[in-house]
Amino acid sequence: MTTMYYEKDAQPELLMAKKVAILGYGSQGHAHALNLHDGGYDVRVGLRLESSSVPKAEAAGLRVLSIADACAEADVIMVLLPDTEQKHIYDTDIAPHLSAGKCLLFAHGFNIRFDRIKPPEDVDVAMIAPKGPGHLVRRTYLEGGGVPALVAVEHDATGHAHDLALAYANALGATRAGVLETTFSEETETDLFGEQVVLCGGVTALVRAGYETLVEAGYQPESAYFECLHELKLIVDLMYEEGITGMRFSVSDTAEYGDLTRGPRVITPDVKAEMKKILTEIQDGSFAAEWILENEIGRPRYRELRDAGKRHPIEQIGAKLRAMMPFVSAGKQKVSEISGGDTD
Ligand code: NAD
Ligand code: MG
Repeated sequence: MTTMYYEKDAQPELLMAKKVAILGYGSQGHAHALNLHDGGYDVRVGLRLESSSVPKAEAAGLRVLSIADACAEADVIMVLLPDTEQKHIYDTDIAPHLSAGKCLLFAHGFNIRFDRIKPPEDVDVAMIAPKGPGHLVRRTYLEGGGVPALVAVEHDATGHAHDLALAYANALGATRAGVLETTFSEETETDLFGEQVVLCGGVTALVRAGYETLVEAGYQPESAYFECLHELKLIVDLMYEEGITGMRFSVSDTAEYGDLTRGPRVITPDVKAEMKKILTEIQDGSFAAEWILENEIGRPRYRELRDAGKRHPIEQIGAKLRAMMPFVSAGKQKVSEISGGDTD
């Protein structure tokens, strides 16, 4: 059932014949616009004309228009604006220019999956979601590779939505790595679940609980930081390269026995039951409704929780220890200096 697409499956000429608008010039936007521009496609970038990104995009040789003008000109419109901003920009600047036969593309399914944006019936709606941050979409392309992506078609008005989306993925470099067929629902629900339960929420809560337990028991914060945060990367790298079994092969037998017998005492059936509840909140739209409301009232809870996170002692000790390990971030642009950011 699983379908993967590669370069041989794509028909670049389908996109070559189209005018493409990239809306936004953030993490994903700059990478999409520059990769397509390098490939010789007819690209324009849609931005607020007062945006600080306008001179950056122009300096990179791109043509910049207002979002409305870019949408009016283009046949293919890729929406790379923040998910929480997409609906009102769609209503005011995109929808009025969606004439029959145009193709509306997304890089994440949130606004379609949760019915925030309802495109007209005579327009193609599809998704190309790169499974990597925007700066890697650009960097791997320049190196001759690509970041894998997901492709999904929500609505095929022209009969060519899928082929056109695949041609877009190809222009982005994604068919060099592999493009997996999915649906807007699967992409949106698994993406939200992964970041909440494992990648961001689960892992940060686990690290902090471990750190607090050691410090409260009287151990040095430095020991707790090295043990519960710094070493995590080394273990995750092994899992990434060789799976869980490969990681277990590399650690000592003592570590492996502790892993096998204690891991299930930390992640108990209750924890998994909570994961199922979180998944249900994603599927039934209650997480989306909560996040949309939070944005409408100016993000008070988000700010408060984020500030509390910054004040946690693990941040102070971490900053001090990392300053003594410059090799940790040597040659890498600080993530806080790259616009946007996501887990994909
Ligand atoms: P971003 O925040 O980095 O960039 C958003 C862009 O939109 C910027 O150019 C910004 O100036 C512009 N913008 C912001 N508010 C605006 C407004 N009110 N009006 C007009 N323009 C506005 O966003 P991003 O992380 O690139 O995300 C874009 C899309 O890509 C989202 O759907 C996201 O889910 C998806 N996505 C992101 C990543 C990632 O690595 N960041 C990965 C996969 C998918
Ligand atoms: Mg993700």
